Amino acid sequence: IDDAQIEKIRKDFKVFSQKINGKKIVYLDNAATTQRPESVIKAVENYYDTSNANPHRGAHALSIRATKVYEDGREKVRKFINAKSTKEIIFTKNSTEALNLIANSYGMNFINKDDEIVIPISEHHSNLIPWQRVAKTKGAVLKYMYIDDEGRLTDEEIRSKITEKTKLVSIAHVTNTLGVVYPIEKIIDYAHKKGAIVVVDAAQSVPHMAEDVQKLDADFMVFSGHKMLSPMGIGVLYGKENILEKMPPFLLGGDMIEYVSEQDATFAELPFKFEAGTQYVEGVAGLSAAIDYIENLGFDFIREVENQLTEYALDEMGKIPYVTVYGPLNMKDRAGVISFNIKDVHPHDVATIVDSNYGVALRSGHHCAQPLMTYLNLNATCRISFYFYNTKEDVDIFIRSIKDVRRWLGYES
Ligand code: PMP
Repeated sequence: IDDAQIEKIRKDFKVFSQKINGKKIVYLDNAATTQRPESVIKAVENYYDTSNANPHRGAHALSIRATKVYEDGREKVRKFINAKSTKEIIFTKNSTEALNLIANSYGMNFINKDDEIVIPISEHHSNLIPWQRVAKTKGAVLKYMYIDDEGRLTDEEIRSKITEKTKLVSIAHVTNTLGVVYPIEKIIDYAHKKGAIVVVDAAQSVPHMAEDVQKLDADFMVFSGHKMLSPMGIGVLYGKENILEKMPPFLLGGDMIEYVSEQDATFAELPFKFEAGTQYVEGVAGLSAAIDYIENLGFDFIREVENQLTEYALDEMGKIPYVTVYGPLNMKDRAGVISFNIKDVHPHDVATIVDSNYGVALRSGHHCAQPLMTYLNLNATCRISFYFYNTKEDVDIFIRSIKDVRRWLGYES
C-alpha cells in the first residue's frame, strides 16, 4: 500500500486539508482520538435535518424516525462485534462509563469479601480505579498481572494470578501505552476454566481489528466511538444477556422503567434498563456511518497500513542512538502504538518541539496509566499512534522531527 492510495482516503477528512503554522498536519495521536470523515459528519447533520426528536417516547413521526436511527445503530453495532442479540448492546458515553457501569452494577453486587479481581499493571485508569473502589468497598482483593521486559504477559504470570479465587478479570485487548496485543482469547479461556468472568477493554482494538464477542466468548466488552471516527460522547457496552439480566440498573431515571409507584419501581427490559435519560442519538447516527466507513475499507486493509507504518517507524527509530522504544520487538505482539523517550529530554518538551517545528501531533505524559509508569520506573513517555489515513511521509516527517529535538535544545548530537 503506497502513499498515493492513502492520499485518496485522506480526501474524506477535511481536517487534513488545512495547514497549521504553515505545515501539513502529521496526526499521530490516534490512540487519543481519531479524525472524522465527511460521511460521519454528514450523518450527524442529516439526523438533525431530517429526524431529530426524543426517541422511544413519542408516537409522532419524527420521534419514530429518531428511534429508527437509534435502534438501527444498535443492530449495526451488534453485527460489527457479532453479538447474539441487540439486548446485549448498551449505548454509553464512552469506555469509561461502560467500565464504571460494570464495576458499579456487576462488581458491587456479585463480588464479595476475599474474592479476587485480576487486571494487568498496564491498564488505563478507567479500567483500574473502578476496580479499586469495588475492592475497597467489598473487601475484595485487586491483584495485578505484571508484564515482562517487552510489555507482554507470560503464561506463567497469567496462571499464577488467575486462580479459583478470581471472580473477574478485566483486560485491554490492546494497551494504549506500549501498544501490546494481549492474548485475550487464551486468557478468557483460562479464566472461564477457573470460574471467573472477563471484561475486555476494546477501546484500542475495535477501531483496528475485527472483534467477535462470540468467538472470544467475552462476558463484557467496551469501546469508545471517538477512537473509531465517531463523535465524542458515544460508547458501547456489550454484555452477555444472562449476565446483564441479573445486574441491577446503574443510572436511574426516565426511559429505563416499567412501572413506578410512590415507593418502588420496576425496570424496563434489556437493553433499556441500562439506558436512563435522553440518549445521544446523533452520536449513534455518526457511529453507524463510522462502522460503514470502516467496513468498507476492511480490517485487512487497516491492519496492513498500520503494520507497514509501525514496522517502518520502529526500524527508523532503532537507528537513532538516543531514542529508547518501549514495548514488544515482535510485530505479532503489537499494534500501531509506539511509546518512546529521547535521552535527557522531557516528553512534554519533545511534544512541543515536534509540533511547533514540524507540525507533528504526538502524545506525551503518563497516558492515564500511572501504575504502569511506576512499574517501569518512568515518569512519562512520548507516544505515536497510527490509523489507516497515516502515510509513510508522516513517518518520515516524524523521524526528521525527533532527530532535530536534541540539536534544537543545544546538545552536540
Ligand atoms: N481504555 C483504553 C485502553 C483507552 O486507551 C482509553 C482512552 N485513552 C480508555 C479506556 C478510556 O476511553 P474514554 O476516554 O473514551 O472513555
